Amino acid sequence: MLLEVNNLTVKYGEISALKGISLNVKEGELTTLIGANGAGKTTLLKTISGLLHPVSGNIIFNGKDITNTPTDAIVRLGISQCPEGRKVFPRQTIYENLKAGAFVRKDNEVEKDIENFFERFPRLKERRNQKSGSLSGGEQQMLVICRALMARPKLLLLDEPSMGLAPIVVSEVFDIIKELRDSGMTILLIEQNAKQALKIADTGYIIEVGNIVAGDTAAELLKSESVKKAYLGG
Ligand code: ATP
Repeated sequence: MLLEVNNLTVKYGEISALKGISLNVKEGELTTLIGANGAGKTTLLKTISGLLHPVSGNIIFNGKDITNTPTDAIVRLGISQCPEGRKVFPRQTIYENLKAGAFVRKDNEVEKDIENFFERFPRLKERRNQKSGSLSGGEQQMLVICRALMARPKLLLLDEPSMGLAPIVVSEVFDIIKELRDSGMTILLIEQNAKQALKIADTGYIIEVGNIVAGDTAAELLKSESVKKAYLGG
C-alpha cells in the first residue's frame, strides 16, 4: 500500500467530521472516495495533506507515519493535492502557476516538464503568458492538475475535479485522470459524480456522514444494488 489511513477521527470543535475511518490506496491504482455533500471527503484530503490534524488514528505514507507532519514536508515526501474549486493563482500566468507547482524540486528538469505539459495541453501553451483567471473552468482544472504534477508526486489527491463543469468537459477531465492512472500515477479521487468516478477507478469507498460504509473493487460497487440505488440513480 502506498497510503494507509487507520481509524482516523477528525473533529471541528465538538463535531466529528470523520468517525474513525480506514482506507488504503494501492500503488499504481486509482482509488475513489465517493459520497454526498458534507460526508467528510474534503476533510479527509485536508487531513492527509496536513492541513487538519486528527484527534486519533494515523496516516502511513510509503511506510512512514505522516500524521501531524507539516504540509510542506508532506509535499516533499510525494503527496500533491488539487484543491476543490480549481484554485489557480488567478493573477499569475499559466507558466507561473506551473512553475509554482515545482517549489519543492531542486532538479534541473522543471522547464522540460513544463514544456511537456504544454505539448499535452496546447490550449495552455497558446496562453502561457496570460493570467490564469482568464481560462475556462475546464482549462483551469487541467492547469491545477498539471500544477500538482509539477511536484512530481508519488500520490495525487484530487478533490472533486468535475465540480461545476459542463458535462462534455467533465468527460474530458475524467479521460485525463484515466490517462494519468494508465501512465502509472497513484491517485485518490474524491467525487460526488459516483458513476463516472467508479467507471475509471480500480477501487472505491463510499463515505456517509463521517463513516466508510462500503469498500470494494470499483467494478463490484458499480454492480451493487444498494450503491446503484443510493448513488447511481437506480
Ligand atoms: P463537499 O462535497 O461539500 O465538499 P465533503 O464530503 O467534502 O462535502 P466536508 O467538507 O469534509 O464534506 O465536511 C464534512 C462535515 O464537516 C460537514 O458536516 C461540514 O459541515 C463540516 N465542516 C467542514 N468544514 C468545517 C469547518 N471549517 N468548521 C466546522 N464544520 C465544518
